[in-house]
Amino acid sequence: MMVRAHFAHWPTHISTTLSVPETTIVDNLEVTARRYPDKTAILYYGTSFSYRTLLEEVNRMAAYLLHIGVKKGDRLLLYMQNSPQFMIAYYAILRAGGVVVPINPMNITEELAHYIEDGEIRTGFVSQELYERITPLLASSSLERLILATYSDYCASTAEEVPNIVKAPRMIVSSPHVTPWTEAMALEVKAGPFPETSARDLAVLPYTSGTTGKPKGCMHTHKSVQANIVSTAFWSPMSPETTVLTTLPLFHVTGMVHSMHAPIYIGATMVVMTRWDRNTAALLIERHRCTHWTVISTMVVDFLANPRLGDYDISSLEVINGGGAPLPEAVGEKLYQVTGIRFAEGYGLSETMAQTHFNPIDRPKLQCLGVPAFDVDARIIDPETLEERGPNEEGEIIVNGPQVFEGYWQRPEENESAFIELDGKRFFRTGDIARYDEEGYFFIVDRVKRMINASGFKVWPSEVESILYKHPAIQQACVIGVPDERKGEEIKAYVVLHEDKRGLVDESEIIDWAQEHMAAYKYPRIIEFVEALPVSGSGKILWRKLQEAEWNRAGK
Ligand code: AMP
Repeated sequence: MMVRAHFAHWPTHISTTLSVPETTIVDNLEVTARRYPDKTAILYYGTSFSYRTLLEEVNRMAAYLLHIGVKKGDRLLLYMQNSPQFMIAYYAILRAGGVVVPINPMNITEELAHYIEDGEIRTGFVSQELYERITPLLASSSLERLILATYSDYCASTAEEVPNIVKAPRMIVSSPHVTPWTEAMALEVKAGPFPETSARDLAVLPYTSGTTGKPKGCMHTHKSVQANIVSTAFWSPMSPETTVLTTLPLFHVTGMVHSMHAPIYIGATMVVMTRWDRNTAALLIERHRCTHWTVISTMVVDFLANPRLGDYDISSLEVINGGGAPLPEAVGEKLYQVTGIRFAEGYGLSETMAQTHFNPIDRPKLQCLGVPAFDVDARIIDPETLEERGPNEEGEIIVNGPQVFEGYWQRPEENESAFIELDGKRFFRTGDIARYDEEGYFFIVDRVKRMINASGFKVWPSEVESILYKHPAIQQACVIGVPDERKGEEIKAYVVLHEDKRGLVDESEIIDWAQEHMAAYKYPRIIEFVEALPVSGSGKILWRKLQEAEWNRAGK
């Protein structure tokens, strides 16, 4: 049964279907720059630039990319934090016919090697504080060239709220493989003609582990991204008068679509933050009269806990929404008391370029995924028998819609199991267990996939375990999620030490080692030594047993 976002309360001006334009993501910027050339596109710690300038910068960087030999379909790495350069590089890659591979800036060298190898990447953008982590790969991987961005290129470092990272002095690097951003921009190269790009061309490869295994790229075309750009602009809703606070990381689909693409599509203003800081966020909302803010629950918790929050005028806020992790009901209530705004939660995945579900802003429910977004056919099935289930019955969410990806980059086998056919349509299996109520609102209850959601960062236990196994004292490890008030889930590892190492290694030593060997959001903060792990008859570690024991302990 198709669950439709079609209810009596649904505002008549919003239809449940939207026509997705047959244009490219860069066309959005072109049109906006033509419509509102002088309108402020980006405000970045005291500096502002117009849509005309943004487009010029994009064209200049795209011309440079063509000049260094980037060809249509090439994958380019985007390894930097939120900044004007992130946005310029993103649109320049697309303009040059390339495919954007946005990477979490928390990844360390070993992790980066996987993305570079998997995407056969030759060119990348990197920001100053991440530079040291990626340079070792210039000699040892397909990576041939880096364009190095310095945050202060685009902001007045005297502004009070500029974080240290942005104020850092310009990096002087002399290497034939590294071009400083300003040098690339200063080069006199012919701007275009740029390669012909169509809505069906590949645009972005956001990486995720999906339901299993190593991170893999989700193939999104311009069209699947456009579907959620348009859907976001309607959901929020946005207008050229909108001012968005861009705090969510832009490498992740939610930040990418809500805090960059949709505002550019509409011609709104983006107030960009490189580093999260609750006082700076409140100050920027007050100073620039921000109206829209897409958040993750940990940010909201931190923002509301600020004893100085009352010093700021945040009354300009009209829409606060987000997804990627549940917002606890109590936090939603507190947010309402402080701002008078009901948090509108959404649900989606990297595979669906953010939302497949959202809460209508005029009738949201708390701790709820919302109703299926425009043109989305969402159903609940039994994950074993694949039989469809009805209202209030639990099962796996499957989705069909224009924002659903084409498949995983070069993973034919995993693509087989990622989709199922139903009623002549191709549905993506999300690996999330949910139910929907009589009104068609979905509620998440569990996961089939083995994943931990720590502050919205997705951690795949098997990846963490495979790194832990490299520790000389570790014989066996099993990683699970422990309920955590602030982060949603915290990462815990049950560890069996080699017999001759028992008593010689302590928990903190393992934690310190893990911190050094994986991205900050992934390493286990809790270690429990055990004599043995529970195993099945075939010798498989019964992680679910340990997980359930942990939930019981927490009274979940
Ligand atoms: P990602 O690919 O990083 O966007 O992660 C997608 C996963 O995030 C989903 O499969 C869900 O498990 C989780 N997720 C997304 N939105 C929500 C939400 N509103 N509440 C709970 N979990 C969510």
